[in-house]
Amino acid sequence: MGELEVDVAIIGAGVAGLSIARELSRYSVNVVVIERNVDVAQEMTSNNMGLVCQGADSLTFRPGSLHAELNIKSIPLWPKFAEELGVPFKRVGGLGLICHKADYLRFLKMYSRAFKSSLKPNAPYYIPEGSFKPLQFLDRRSLKDLEPNINPRIQGALYDPNLAVIDPVLLARSLAENAKANGVELLFGNEVKTIERKDTYFLVNTNETTVRASFVVNAAGINAESIAEMVGARNFSYVPVKGILTDFDEETSEVFSHQAFYLPRLGDPHIRAVVPIVYGGLRVGIHLDFVLRSDKNIPLQGLEHNLKVVKEVIPDYPFEKHVKRTFYGIMPLTNAEVGWHDFIVDIPEYVPKWVNVILGPAGVSSAPMLGKKVAELLMTSGLYLTPRTDFNPIVERGVKP
Ligand SMILES: Cc1cc2nc3c(=O)[nH]c(=O)nc-3n(C[C@H](O)[C@H](O)[C@H](O)COP(=O)(O)OP(=O)(O)OC[C@H]3O[C@@H](n4cnc5c(N)ncnc54)[C@H](O)[C@@H]3O)c2cc1C
Repeated sequence: MGELEVDVAIIGAGVAGLSIARELSRYSVNVVVIERNVDVAQEMTSNNMGLVCQGADSLTFRPGSLHAELNIKSIPLWPKFAEELGVPFKRVGGLGLICHKADYLRFLKMYSRAFKSSLKPNAPYYIPEGSFKPLQFLDRRSLKDLEPNINPRIQGALYDPNLAVIDPVLLARSLAENAKANGVELLFGNEVKTIERKDTYFLVNTNETTVRASFVVNAAGINAESIAEMVGARNFSYVPVKGILTDFDEETSEVFSHQAFYLPRLGDPHIRAVVPIVYGGLRVGIHLDFVLRSDKNIPLQGLEHNLKVVKEVIPDYPFEKHVKRTFYGIMPLTNAEVGWHDFIVDIPEYVPKWVNVILGPAGVSSAPMLGKKVAELLMTSGLYLTPRTDFNPIVERGVKP
């Protein structure tokens, strides 16, 4: 049992908490990350598709939402961010599959909106020239040239050459390593049990220690609700959604190399996407289900759905023989009543010096901007941030892209 006094306590060592910690390590402030597990990225950050939205997908996020803002502003930052952290950032390119004229018309709408929303200098989230290659419609023949094994029933595709994949666990490790090298303290095996809100500080009590912090960032993922409730800072709600994914072995990289997805079907809540894994193999999903946060069951329908999806994209291959594992991640979905998810990154009105960070879908993709957004919020809440002259952004041991 010990005690620690810091300027900022961050709860959660997933990609959210760690990208915020790394950003704050640019400044002269004392920061601690408190994590209940014994390592980083043991929850949502290790159980996702590994996609970095770089083009068509982020440009379809609802204009004006934080989801759109953080993801689109992250696009030009990603290559340098990944390089500094020594994380392979592989542009695999995405294929929005067209089976019928109706699909084409939906993609056409997306495509024209994409160009309106971000590629003109006066656009709200302008993407500077050079960081985004134009999208392109492919006919059946060009699609076949790109992916010879694709289902012959697919008529064409909207091709996004920008889409990238990473290893989110390595990203989290590198963020932690870099934050630590720049002075951030990491407390593992520390589960936050209670938080006392005092006049000018918080006492964050874990199973091991008490942290006295002037500011708290709640980046506890699917558990953010419980943490916020400890100090009356729950000004949001979400529903837990379980996404089941299946990995196929490295040999499957020989039959398909792009990300590919079908548009959603009316009455079918599941996602149909095939994604190359950065180190080889394919990841397929996503079978979705509303669940309890504690639900650890992986129903057989998850694997069945994922096998069906991969065979709808590449029909003549024995994927059953190449299954490596089926696993799940549980993500918070906000605005479930209207079906339009958004990130929550804000200071609740009645709890100053406290920031709630709830990401959910596409949260990994927002990592480069997220830290900057939270640093700004903390400054508006009274944290004085002086840049350090000795900040080193480079992770030396890095695996080069
Ligand atoms: C199926 C699926 C597919 C996805 N695909 C993509 C994708 O392709 N691209 C993309 O950008 N995003 C994707 N996402 C979303 C992405 O995974 C999340 O947005 C991101 O990982 C959220 O990170 P986080 O740090 O907020 O949460 P987590 O990674 O869950 O981190 C929260 C941390 O808080 C800790 N914690 C909780 N309670 C306590 C406590 N009381 N005390 C101490 N520590 C605590 C937890 O142990 C955990 O380590 C996907 C998500 C899912 C589920």
